[in-house]
Parts: sequence; C-alpha cells; structure tokens
Amino acid sequence: MDKVYDHKQSEASWYSFWEKKGLFKAAPNSPKKPYSLLIPPPNLTGGLHLGHAMQHTILDAIARFKRLQGFDVLLLPGVDHAGILFEATFNRELKKQGLSKEKLGREEWLKRAWEFKDKVYKGVSSTWRFMGLSADWSREVFSLDPGPAKAVFEEFKTYWDRGLLYKGPYIVQWCPRCNTAIEDAELEYEERKEKLYFLKYGPLTLATVRPETKFGDTAMAVNPGDKRYTDFVGKEFEIQTLAGPKKMKVIADPAVDPNFGTGVVKVTPAHDFEDYEIGKRHNLPIIRVIDKNGRLTEVAGKFAGMKVEEARAAMIPELKEKGILVKEEDYVHNVAVCDRCKSTVEPLVSEEWFVKVNNLAKGAIKAISGNEINFLPKGYSKILNDWLSNIHDWCISRSLWWGHRIPVWYCGLGKGLARPLGFYEGVVPQLYTGKTKTYRLKNHWYKVGDRAAFHQSGTNKIIGFGTITAVSETAVGKLPLHDPAYGAVYQKREELIAALQKHNKNFDVNENTLAFIYSYKFEPVNRKVTGCGEVIVSSDPPETCPRCGGSKLTQDEQVLDTWFSSGLWPLSTLGWPEKTRALERYFPWDFEITAPEIKFLWIARMIMLGKYFMKEIPFKQMFFHGMLRDLQGRKFSKSLGNGIEPSYLIERWGTDATRMALYTYAVPGRDGRVSRESLDTRGKNFRNFGTKLRNIARYILELKPKDPVGNLRFAHKDDKWIKTELDKTSGKVTKNLQGLQLHLASDEIYDFVWHKFADIYIEKSKLRRKESQPVLEYVLENSLILLHPFMPFITEELWQKLSNTGGKSVMLAQWPRN
Ligand SMILES: [Zn+2]
Ligand SMILES: [Zn+2]
Repeated sequence: MDKVYDHKQSEASWYSFWEKKGLFKAAPNSPKKPYSLLIPPPNLTGGLHLGHAMQHTILDAIARFKRLQGFDVLLLPGVDHAGILFEATFNRELKKQGLSKEKLGREEWLKRAWEFKDKVYKGVSSTWRFMGLSADWSREVFSLDPGPAKAVFEEFKTYWDRGLLYKGPYIVQWCPRCNTAIEDAELEYEERKEKLYFLKYGPLTLATVRPETKFGDTAMAVNPGDKRYTDFVGKEFEIQTLAGPKKMKVIADPAVDPNFGTGVVKVTPAHDFEDYEIGKRHNLPIIRVIDKNGRLTEVAGKFAGMKVEEARAAMIPELKEKGILVKEEDYVHNVAVCDRCKSTVEPLVSEEWFVKVNNLAKGAIKAISGNEINFLPKGYSKILNDWLSNIHDWCISRSLWWGHRIPVWYCGLGKGLARPLGFYEGVVPQLYTGKTKTYRLKNHWYKVGDRAAFHQSGTNKIIGFGTITAVSETAVGKLPLHDPAYGAVYQKREELIAALQKHNKNFDVNENTLAFIYSYKFEPVNRKVTGCGEVIVSSDPPETCPRCGGSKLTQDEQVLDTWFSSGLWPLSTLGWPEKTRALERYFPWDFEITAPEIKFLWIARMIMLGKYFMKEIPFKQMFFHGMLRDLQGRKFSKSLGNGIEPSYLIERWGTDATRMALYTYAVPGRDGRVSRESLDTRGKNFRNFGTKLRNIARYILELKPKDPVGNLRFAHKDDKWIKTELDKTSGKVTKNLQGLQLHLASDEIYDFVWHKFADIYIEKSKLRRKESQPVLEYVLENSLILLHPFMPFITEELWQKLSNTGGKSVMLAQWPRN
C-alpha cells in the first residue's frame, strides 16, 4: 500500500469505477423494493457552497445506506434556472462587458444566457462528482428542459381551464432593482431606525413614516370605535400638500389601529397593502406616486423623477416651512427588502398573473395535519400549516426573460393584453357613430395609450378596439349632462344618476360618487388588422386564432415565477404529466431534504401541487437541516466575503474527511457555526482517521500470517467482546441512519473503529495473531460496510483489498442485519 496517499487521484478513479459499472443507476424493473431521494435542485448562479455540500452528502449517505440494505435506490439530480437570481447574476456579468438587456434584445440575450448557464453548470456538476454523489446521472433534469416545460404548461393550462388564473392590476411587492414583482416569501426584513412624521391634514394631525407617498393619499381614516374622531367621519376637508391644496374625506375603517400615532392615518391605496384593502372597501381612487424604478411620478410635481429617499429628504424642510410637518419622533420598525438584492421593496399596483390558491392549499393542510408527512424537526408541520391557512393569491408572473415564458398568446394586439371594456347593447351603436368617452364608476386602470378590447356586455362579442386618449376623474355631480361627445344627453342630473345606477348595481350612486372618464379613439373590429382580442393558452405558438382565424398573434412578455416550476419538481422530474413507470414506482419520494429558508416558497408549494395534481403527498420524509453560519452567526454570503468553498476542504483533507466533518453538523433543524479553523480541525481529524483505517487494513491484510488460518470463530473472550461491540455499533448506526441522525451514526462507527477495534482489540490480538486473523478480517469487512455511506472512497479502496470480494464494489455488499 502506498504510504503517501493521493486522495484526489484515488477518489476520481473510484468514482469512475462506480459510474462505469452503472452502480448509481436506478433499476425500475428490478424485483427490489424502491427507495427514492430527490436532490433539491441548486440554483445555477455560481458554485456550490458549504450548505449544498452538507445537504448533498446527507442525501448521498442515505442513498448508499439504502442500497446496502438491498433497495433499488433512485437519487435524482437536477438544477434550477433560478429566475430572478440568475438574471441578476448574468446581467452583472454583461455589465462588466459594457452590455445590457436593452442593448442585446430578448433573443440575443437569451442565447448568451444559455451559454452562461452551461458555464456555471460545469462547476456545479464537477463539485457534485468531487463530493462522491451517487446520483443517477442518466435522469438528470434542468428546470428549463422540455420535460419540466411540458409539466409547467400542464399546470398553467389546468389552472386556466378550472378558472383559477387571472390577470389584472393588483398591489404587489415590487423590487425596483430586480425590476419585477416578488412575493412575500421572497422578502427579508431589516430593522431600521427612521422617523415618524406628524403631519397636519386639515383639522387633524396624523403620523406617517412615508411622507413622500402623501401625493397619493385619497382619504384619512380612523377606527370606527375611536370616539375622538366620531364627528369628523364622513366629512371632507381641504388639506395642504406640496403640490397645492386638495380635498379629502375622513373615513372609518376597522383596520385602523387607534393606538398608532394620533389614531388618524392617511390612506395611500397605491402603495400600501392595508391601504389598498381599505381603498377597495371604500371605493377610493388609486393614485400612483412611485413608479416601477422606485422614482416619484408626475403627481409629485417638482419631486417627480426623484428616488424615494431623495424625495423624502427634499420634502422635509419644505413640509416644516409650510407648517404641515409639526413633529418628528424616532421610530424603529422593520422594512421589507428583496432577499435577492437587498433593495427596499415598494408595494405598488402592477398588472400581473395570479393563481387563486385557496382550494389548492386545502389538500396540503389536510395532509400535513393528518401527519401524512414525517417532518424532521416535527415543529415544521405547524409552521407550514399556519402559512398555508393564511395564503394569498399567488403572483406567478415575473417581468424577466429567464424562465418559462407565459404560454399565452393574444390575438391581434401589438403588445400584451388589451383589457376588455364592456358596453351595453343599447350603447353599442353610439360607438360607431362618434361616441368618444365613457364614464365608469369602477377604476379600470387605463392610462393614456393603453388599448382596450371593447366588447358587448352579455355576449362578450368584441366590437372593436379603443386607444385611450385621456383619463380623468370627477364626482358624478360634475359630469356634463350635455356633452355631445357622450352619446346620451340627459335633461336632469337625476336621469344621469339613474342611468349610472342601473349599470352599476354594486355602487351607491350619488352626486359625490367618484367617476372615471375615459376618452378613446375607437376602431371597429377588422379581423385582418386588429384581430379579435382572444386570449389563447397554448404550449406552442398557435398559427391562427381559433376564434377569428386571424394570424397576428403575440405572446405574453412575462415569464413564470421560478417556484411555479420548482413546486412541480417532484412530479416533473419523473415525467409527469405522462404516466411513466418512474412516476408509478418512485412517487411519492421517500426522502427529501431542504434548508429551512425555502420552507414556504418550495416545500409548502410542493405539498400543495402534489396533493392537487397527484392526489398524493410528494414525499414521505422531510428533513430540514440547519444553516451553516459563520462564528458571528451570520449567513455565508458573497457580499460578506465569509464563504468557505467545499473545494477548499476537499483539496486539503480529501472528500471522505470533508464529508465526515459535515456530518457532525447534520443535526436536523439546528444551525451550525463554523470557521475555516474549526472545519480544518475536524477535516484534519477525519483525515487522520482515514490514515488510521488504512493502517488497520495494512496490518490485517498485508501483514497477515503466512500460514493458513482457521475458520471464523468467536471463541476467545476478546473475540466475543469485539463481536458484541460490533453488533451493538451496527445496531446503533442502523437505528440512527433510519432516524436520520447522521451526526450520531457517523460518530458511532468512528468511535468503534478507532477506540474499540484499533485501540483495544487489535492491540490485544498481536499476542495471538494467527488465531484472531479471521475475526480481524470479519470486523474490518463489516466496519467498511458500516462506514461506506459516510466515507465512500476509502471504504471502496480497502474493500477491493479484501480477499473474498472478487472485484465487486462495496456498494453491492450486504448491510449487517441486526
Ligand atoms: Zn431585488
Ligand atoms: Zn382572433
């Protein structure tokens, strides 16, 4: 045996030995019982980090253990396209080359993005192999492959057909840096010390942290039970703003906390979730103050174009000077930031696609409360169920290019969806004869330049298209009665109100009701030119519109949320929606593992979609490992520069020792604090253990007695003792592997080999070497099997030196039965 051991070369050659023999491949047609493990697909944005390495070595240990126990094991690998994160990483790369999305255009950008993806993938794939991952590479999946794409389409189409999908303006969390809507679960909260500003609003004073949104206020609100303000409710007051005076009403809403500030709050429906809901309840107009780049809009007057913080700083002195700002207080609160880029997130109203998930969540909640899934630690079942019970509609569109493009085509419309605007039958003829305005009590959100598909209410037949030329809002009492541009001419205000009431049954119409006036240029439908506005859901670009035969079809610009595809990962990786043999045999998965931070984004979704589409839970065991953090308890991150690459440890101590070091942190749900030094200490210790093991094997196999030895017998008291210890150890290792306590399992076998077998039995055996030889070989053989899940390379190397293995891999050995 070589004294100087080159772990790198040896490991690589054993890895290819296994691969060549096809030992990682699942065998769907074997008579063995199946056992399936799904690798959480890492994001293709950079190399694998230490957390991945730990996660994947846990998976690999279980997979190797189950193979030794005689199962047909599927350990399925794959990678995720990681929408926002990949796009941000790639755009940064482009920036270094002086390029951008805008400069390249969608097609060229995508071409280069795929090249970048291939480059990143190479690093991930080679780390996996370094780590000894025994995955079935013939089944490897990338989330943008045709297979998952087909599954994603099936998912989308099912929601569409069942009426669970809708597109519309809604308040969303918007990251101005990533330039897309994101979800609550993609937010982080940062504690910030800011100011609470007390502003005068007419006769009242209210407190706010966001004075810059004042331009979008459309009411003041108090709690209905707050006696201090009873007399004000329902009344309108003139208030001063930096863009001049404005009339504003006081409303009463139970959502207002009477103990916050003065008990009066401003309502900004366009930029606050709570206010948006209050606005809906009170039919308040929505005025956008902040745009998608995080800058103030034209309603902010001279502050237009400024970033939020800039505008706030510029406004404060002026608010003070005008006597509007009367008091400031320090205020500590949590501010939502994007977990990808750490920018402050702006709630704003955007046109997005949503899935109504209430019904989808029900199946998942039932499965979790019925303990159908074994969570480790147990507490996660409650955490997940609480979240699922309060779930909101899922915003699934992202304004990105990297991802599954939304499989929707619109007939005949230059860009995006022309939203429908209905007209009553009696009004339709007026559209053809010069009517150019429509009064609406409902805010339809049109901006100048938008296209609307005009249809006849009731029949839904498209009459034509309107291009919006002006938008204004006024009280019903101020609508002109004699407007020649408006088809009907009323004699009295009551007639107009009666007409509006007739068509707006949900509104209580009076002089003060707010009305939106949309002016438009009307073009009657001309199929050749305009198309019919049909929305077509299709996996491939349709050639013609099934409704009108038109061929001017354009695809939706947005892509789907990454989690839309990863939620289906347990199904799509096995070929769903096809009814494959693999799906039948390996679903639900026996084992899944994850970091706790994606419990809602990923785990909850997988359960939801598994139950919805397969009527089954997606996995039986769910293992939440802890997070590896630095000594100060911080997450490892590129920006902090505190990361430790798995390759650093592998270079120094070899894969087996690195894996052993990582298992010491594999306690379910418990975070580990590590540093280079602490990992080096453990790495070195386990490397020494490897050397010890190699010396043990050398003593037993190379320095064995020349004369033939007898049969295996446990006659001597030392033999009996080591046999008992070995059986005890194998019992504990088995139990702890079954119970997913890998830190205990790896420690048991380590302790046995070093401190019982080597330190005691082997030392004593030197006095009766010939007699003990069969026992020495027996214990070594079994120790190698028990160690194999944790230290695959060295156990294979030594196994091959045993006399009775005939060149067969240790992977094909039989786990000791207890
Ligand atoms: Zn962001
Ligand atoms: Zn059409």
